[in-house]
Amino acid sequence: MIFDKILKYFRGYFLDVRTMENLQFFNTLTRKKEKFVPLEKGKVRMYCCGPTVYLYAHIGNFRTYIFEDVLRRVLESNRFKVTHVMNITDVGHLTSDADTGEDKMEVSARRERKTISEIAEFYTKAFFEDAEKLNILKPTIVCKATDHIAGMIKLIQKLEKKGYTYIINDGVYFDTSRLKDYGKLTGMGFEKLKESLKAGARVEFNPQKKNISDFGLWFFSPKDKKRQMEWVSPWGVGFPGWHIECSVMSMKYLGDTFDMHCSAIDHIPIHHTNEIAQSEAATGKKVVNYWLHGAFLVFGEKAKMAKSKGEIITVPTIIKEGFDLLAYRYLCLTAHYRSELVFTWESLKAAQNALFTLREHMRRLKENLESEKKKTLKAEEYKKKFLEAVNDDLNMPKALTLVWKLVRDEKEVSNREKYELLLEFDKILGLDLVREVTKEKL
Ligand code: AMP
Ligand code: ZN
Repeated sequence: MIFDKILKYFRGYFLDVRTMENLQFFNTLTRKKEKFVPLEKGKVRMYCCGPTVYLYAHIGNFRTYIFEDVLRRVLESNRFKVTHVMNITDVGHLTSDADTGEDKMEVSARRERKTISEIAEFYTKAFFEDAEKLNILKPTIVCKATDHIAGMIKLIQKLEKKGYTYIINDGVYFDTSRLKDYGKLTGMGFEKLKESLKAGARVEFNPQKKNISDFGLWFFSPKDKKRQMEWVSPWGVGFPGWHIECSVMSMKYLGDTFDMHCSAIDHIPIHHTNEIAQSEAATGKKVVNYWLHGAFLVFGEKAKMAKSKGEIITVPTIIKEGFDLLAYRYLCLTAHYRSELVFTWESLKAAQNALFTLREHMRRLKENLESEKKKTLKAEEYKKKFLEAVNDDLNMPKALTLVWKLVRDEKEVSNREKYELLLEFDKILGLDLVREVTKEKL
């Protein structure tokens, strides 16, 4: 009996170790799937770009945070200790990513007739409340841009000393032509990247910039307008550019080189490209080993959901429409994180039906558990296949298919095994499978 238990423990252990060895992710930097090897054994240092807190986050933003949450849960199920850092952007994100327009926070404060700190506090609180309802785990460290201004000034000074910066009428800029491999994350060469930025520029860029790809590190406060938030710096009173906050906070909390950096694909050509430029120019070291980017949530007509476009669906909208919010999480899991997901109310309804049916299965299983706690090879096979799917670049659609196969398997696994496996899988799915469903909702 004892021997049997020991044998089962070791079989389970080796099964886990074998699947852990197959953990792989698609790395934007190399444009291929790569085996995941952390910098430090048993630990993962991960940075995820957080929200700009000038408005409610929309469900497109939350698609990305759900993907990052699943990633973290998968890493933790592989027994890694994850340090997950998320920034809160409360200054410097201009209405155009190409360094023109106004600070989104200042615009929002004016619109709502509030101070910027009131705006930031309100939307940060709303963000974490929504995230919690979506079963998104709270990051290990949450850090605000405005708490790190001194660090940003220091990093800019370092770049200045190394000759990467120049000053023009509206601020201190990074000279992207000084960096050999600028733009490597995009897979385009420097010239092609500049051309694509020119083609995509929806607004005039400052003609004093040496290259269209150069970006602001520190902006001077405008002479004709009083900003609510500005700081004294060696270059004059002003405020930081958007990208510098992520370089400073990621390296402060995770070190000069860390394992992972994530967000959606919109950040590849500008925000993350510029983060790499600043961090690597300052330290001379590779900053991130694995870059993971999720695809967009789009509306039917393929329009990206964006806060700046005004028409957004938020978490409160979904609740108001009478949905269980985790139906949205289920919907996100039905598509691979690197594939575009088209949002429709019908698809949300279908996701909710599937989720409720799963929960009803769980309830019935629980009511019919066998007393015997046996473990069959078939149950182990389900577990192995589930872990293989999630470890293969987070193949959640495949993992969900497996969940349904398990639920429908009437012959080879017992109710108890099914119930226990589903509970274990739910640690990654985050769908609250044990939540009760009222009869009228079924
Ligand atoms: P922001 O608050 O605009 O800085 O965006 C927060 C996060 O949401 C970032 O990781 C973006 O890449 C991501 N994001 C923005 N729009 C979408 C969208 N339509 N679908 C998925 N992710 C998005
Ligand atoms: Zn960022």
